[in-house]
Amino acid sequence: MRVSPPLLRGGLERLAQIDAVLQAAYGTPEEELGNKDDPLEEAVYIILSFQTDLKRCRSTWSSLRAAYPTWVQLKRATPREIARVLHEGGLQKQKARTIRRLLAEVELVAGQLSLDMLQTMSDEEAERVLTRLPGLSWKAARCVLLYSLQREVLPVDGNTFRILKRTGVLSRRAVYRRRTLHDAVQNAVPADRRRALHVNLVVHGQRTCLPRAPQCPRCPLLTACPRIGLPVGASAHAHLVLPTPAKARAAVEMGA
Ligand code: SF4
Repeated sequence: MRVSPPLLRGGLERLAQIDAVLQAAYGTPEEELGNKDDPLEEAVYIILSFQTDLKRCRSTWSSLRAAYPTWVQLKRATPREIARVLHEGGLQKQKARTIRRLLAEVELVAGQLSLDMLQTMSDEEAERVLTRLPGLSWKAARCVLLYSLQREVLPVDGNTFRILKRTGVLSRRAVYRRRTLHDAVQNAVPADRRRALHVNLVVHGQRTCLPRAPQCPRCPLLTACPRIGLPVGASAHAHLVLPTPAKARAAVEMGA
């Protein structure tokens, strides 16, 4: 484990404390997240998860698989047809286009609609293949590695990024789309704690440290959290700036 920017001094100790507190509070309820054992399913699921909450993401996934039980059926559908099915999760046109591009590229690279070839690759090799596919960022690649390939990696999703900035682990100036950020956080967490910490951070970000209205008064981290970036005195009703719709649409197409 090591500390490197954009982690702040003391970041290792803070991360260990956050890990212990969230583990005691939530106990790694992995089933809430709905991640997939199959790598291609997980890749599509992560695209659906962009800019929506877990409940709507899981519901949109169910709708998609009910409408298109096989990848071949999904690949043959038009973006407009797919977008109609994805309506509940938002950004449906962008997600539909991205999923179709992903399936086409997977078929080209793997020779079939499957990412099973990743099973025998090293972490680095699998990550390289995944991040070259349409719509998959470092976070998405590491979700596939973690949940479908059982590798000891730590995806830094939007919940993790937000919480680690507010709690003073990451610099306020940290940039989400830099690989150095994803590597710095991953390298600061013991390999055998990465999966549990990721799950607990996602759950914490969905239940308590919400983007617009963090529920600080009932947060298990309250006494240790400097609440960086929140207005002084802000609590359950703090309203913060979120990405504009145009930025969110562009981000889906660049990589979830
Ligand atoms: S105290 Fe508030 S800002 Fe800090 S982690 Fe908890 S909910 Fe988030």
